Amino acid sequence: MSDEINLGPDCQRALENLYLFLDHELAEGDWDAVHAHIADCAPCLTQFDVERIVKELVARSCREKAPDVLRAKVLTSIRTTTVTVRTERVGETDA
Ligand SMILES: [Zn+2]
Repeated sequence: MSDEINLGPDCQRALENLYLFLDHELAEGDWDAVHAHIADCAPCLTQFDVERIVKELVARSCREKAPDVLRAKVLTSIRTTTVTVRTERVGETDA
């Protein structure tokens, strides 16, 4: 048993253009080609559905204003991460 899915060249091209497709940023001919492929290809359709749902969730949460507490937590977390990375880099050069 394997979860591996054999993707053909059409699948790879479709998945590479996943976000462009979802944003309707592909050229019209390319968009039609990807759309036709997905409609006919179960593995790609599943993959696109997952990405579309994630994208919708992200878009929805971006429209809502984050509470100030959450905002502060995220900002603190970003600053902490930056400091950690800088510290590690200094340590690497010293070692
Ligand atoms: Zn496919």
